[in-house]
Amino acid sequence: MTKRIDRLEPLRISEVRYREEWEARCPLCQEWQPLDFDFWDPGRMTRCLTCWRVYSKLMNRHYGEVEAVRACRREGARVRYWARREKHIKSVARWREEHKEARREYDHRYRAAHREEINARRRELYAQKKATKA
Ligand SMILES: [Zn+2]
Repeated sequence: MTKRIDRLEPLRISEVRYREEWEARCPLCQEWQPLDFDFWDPGRMTRCLTCWRVYSKLMNRHYGEVEAVRACRREGARVRYWARREKHIKSVARWREEHKEARREYDHRYRAAHREEINARRRELYAQKKATKA
């Protein structure tokens, strides 16, 4: 069975025959398939369900790799970011105002966990200050 999934122009089943049951020929893979819901989707008769499965699998796999799709997604993210930016900054500031206790607790925990780093940074700054003064 040869599959030509690169063809996207609308195709219609052109051939229907009766053997033991009604069968239709898939315009893509040219296979005769029984005309029932296991092999055809009535809303998408341009190819059989097997071909549709192959098509969607390939589309899903390559969706993130298509540069146009990625550019479109990036553009959408940029627009959303700039549309929400002011609101987001305001809501973060409001949250900080309303949760001063939580902030203090968090700062305390952070300082306890990163004591060494903070001290090292302070020492470095102190040494730089001394060096520039001298
Ligand atoms: Zn098919």
